Amino acid sequence: MIKAIDTVYNGYKFRSRLEARWAVFFDSLGIKYEYEQEGFDLGENAKLMFGNSIYLPDFFLPEMDVFVEVKPEIDTMSQKEWEEFSKPMLISLAKLHGLGMQKNKDAIALFGTPGQENIHLYGPKNSDGNPFTYLKWAECRHCENAYWLFNSSDLAGIRIGSNHTHKKCGERYPLADTGKLKKAYQKSRQARFEHGETPKP
Ligand SMILES: [Zn+2]
Repeated sequence: MIKAIDTVYNGYKFRSRLEARWAVFFDSLGIKYEYEQEGFDLGENAKLMFGNSIYLPDFFLPEMDVFVEVKPEIDTMSQKEWEEFSKPMLISLAKLHGLGMQKNKDAIALFGTPGQENIHLYGPKNSDGNPFTYLKWAECRHCENAYWLFNSSDLAGIRIGSNHTHKKCGERYPLADTGKLKKAYQKSRQARFEHGETPKP
């Protein structure tokens, strides 16, 4: 079921529980985030293609310098849900890509709940706009509290997270599924949200 329920957490009013779960995940790892902070005008072409040119991404992660759009898991959508949600979803993903290209920043779509998510990469590292899908969250072996997104099909390949690069610390290979990551996945899935209340950590 896809039902958006306004959820208050950490001073933000999230449009859905799923978005709030991602905020819990980021908090658990100490990854800074801004939620629906700024709308962007993608220009005339976007207006022609989509009817309007304004796009408001769900999150911006300032330390990783990446725009984030959170989406429900698509593999488990019913035909009816797909018919209802696919068009606006594809438009917002096209806009996410457009924003990444315009700002020359990475842009990712997170499908599903933390730990079971599917991550698609848009923006300049993926300039043809076809989603690149092998990304995974990972922790630096070298630096404390440093997280990357890396290409799980090729450890030395795509890496997202500009505050922390191997050029800075010398580390080239990240660690996936560390204790901290597992704990963050668990915390985000187990968080209970009541209307207008902050979940217990
Ligand atoms: Zn490092």
